[in-house]
Amino acid sequence: MRRALLGVPLLALAACSGATEEPLLERPAGAGAPALVVPAAAAEAAYDGVDDPALDVALNEPVEDSVYPRIGDPGVDALHYDLDLAWDPDAEVLTGRQVLLLRSTEDDDELQLDLSPELRVGSVLVDGEEVDFRHEGKDLVVVADVEADERYELALDFEGTPLPVPAPTTRGDFATNGWTTMPDGSTWTMQEPHGAYTWYAVNDHPSDKALYDIAVTVPEPFTGIANGELVDTTEADGLRTTTWHLAEPAASYLMTIATGDYVLTEDESASGVPIQYWVPRERQRLARALAPTPEGLAWLEEILGPYPFDTLGILLVDSESGMETQTMITLGMTDYTTSPAVVVHELAHHWYGDDVTPSDWRDVWMNEGMAMYLQGMWEAEQEDYTLEQLMDYWASFEDEERAAAGPPADYDPATFGESNIYYGPALMWHELRRDLGDELFLELVRAWPAEHQNATSSYDEITAWWSERSGRDLAGFFDDWLLGEVTPARG
Ligand SMILES: [Zn+2]
Repeated sequence: MRRALLGVPLLALAACSGATEEPLLERPAGAGAPALVVPAAAAEAAYDGVDDPALDVALNEPVEDSVYPRIGDPGVDALHYDLDLAWDPDAEVLTGRQVLLLRSTEDDDELQLDLSPELRVGSVLVDGEEVDFRHEGKDLVVVADVEADERYELALDFEGTPLPVPAPTTRGDFATNGWTTMPDGSTWTMQEPHGAYTWYAVNDHPSDKALYDIAVTVPEPFTGIANGELVDTTEADGLRTTTWHLAEPAASYLMTIATGDYVLTEDESASGVPIQYWVPRERQRLARALAPTPEGLAWLEEILGPYPFDTLGILLVDSESGMETQTMITLGMTDYTTSPAVVVHELAHHWYGDDVTPSDWRDVWMNEGMAMYLQGMWEAEQEDYTLEQLMDYWASFEDEERAAAGPPADYDPATFGESNIYYGPALMWHELRRDLGDELFLELVRAWPAEHQNATSSYDEITAWWSERSGRDLAGFFDDWLLGEVTPARG
């Protein structure tokens, strides 16, 4: 997740489509603004209906979140979202059509998704038949008789002016989540732990990963940018449509979309991963700051194994922070958030967070502890201090962070993403490394994501795996570090 720069000295650097058969949806012309029409079938159907076995990689057993139970619904197992989105930056209107292929996890007479009330739903179809629905707050409740383990196609259209939602955090670098519109009409999103529902109808929970195809239409010179591979660009009548295919299932908090006047620069890692840098036309000097990205990626691949995705994007946006998103890192345009340390941190999440994802927000420590620890290892190689010195420094304030926001795996829900989920778990991994030795520890650090590709995982599964694979009973060790009110003694 995104890191802010804390007010601490040098050593703390890190504080760091389916069918589109229905009629097109047309936005009513606003006050003097031209109507922006969603193009027909911008995203081709990537899958052969709900029963396509290629969708099975997105099968999950969604759970109700223990920290934020109001978001997401365990009755829905989303498999594939096909989003056709059109953004009118003058009128600030988002028009969307989506087709969601899903599995119901239970017998019920309703399906529930998350969708901001700012987006007005026109109609909802289930398997091609129009159905009733209620849109109460952010809950979109679709009336449909569904059976456990059966698959359905849910199509809907919506329109409105998206607004971000308050973020459950006390952090200074972000107060809201979701779709964010800048004064020039450009847009971006960050949405951890939730907020994808500000721009599409979604089961907005990390236990429900899904595949995506996204088409974004904007007036030139804007370009729409989303996750995955850019598979098509068309330009007609002053409108530009980009089409994106995401081949690996993603948690909704890791989806992103940005629109603006962007310049694309292409590069490639030493291991052959295509890298796309998306930098706003007016901020091209920042492209130079991103030049060390292939070096950072190569360093991580040496430790963690091959980069887990087919493509990598680096997207600069008007945020104060940075965040890993699926196949992409989305960075605010500050000196800190475009620094190599932050780039390494966010890239590390592509193994720890994006490839294997916590199934419950209590376990965001799985992402942040390891990304922070790897960032620390990288910094210690770059700077004139040792990893031990850095760990001692982190330990000098970690207890205060734990006292302020709670234990890393039992934190105050109003303090999402505070430093307690970063430094304590990073110190924990360092202690375990000293106990297990470099060879076994680093072997397991590499094996965990490699053996859980595209998966989600719980506290019990993570900790049991480490016990089993290390040959030690680590249950007490993990509980002390992750659930303890007081920082355990270090070795
Ligand atoms: Zn992070």
